[in-house]
Amino acid sequence: MHEMAVTKNILDIALESAREADNARVMEINLVIGELSSVADDSVQFYFDALSKDTAAEGAKLNFRRIPAFFQCTACKHRYKRKENTFRCPRCGADAKICEGGTEFYIDSLVVEN
Ligand SMILES: [Zn+2]
Repeated sequence: MHEMAVTKNILDIALESAREADNARVMEINLVIGELSSVADDSVQFYFDALSKDTAAEGAKLNFRRIPAFFQCTACKHRYKRKENTFRCPRCGADAKICEGGTEFYIDSLVVEN
């Protein structure tokens, strides 16, 4: 249960921040997810609702922002965003690339309220 573990992490961080803000309540959590991350939005919200029950983050809204991955072609050095259904370099067609990012999953910001 990959999502459950990452969701637990996010909840812990959110609750820690809320405690530091004079025991505030967590209203919203803005998350960033890389496009290559295997995390599914629906499952995260589902686990969050379950795990946050009876905590200061109960009922918080999760906002997801997907960010693209970038690739660099090792043949021609072209840097590109992937097109749908292919990882090939759009300039020279080589299938050799280095991936930069795309697997991020982290809290961008939090909205807490006292
Ligand atoms: Zn290329």
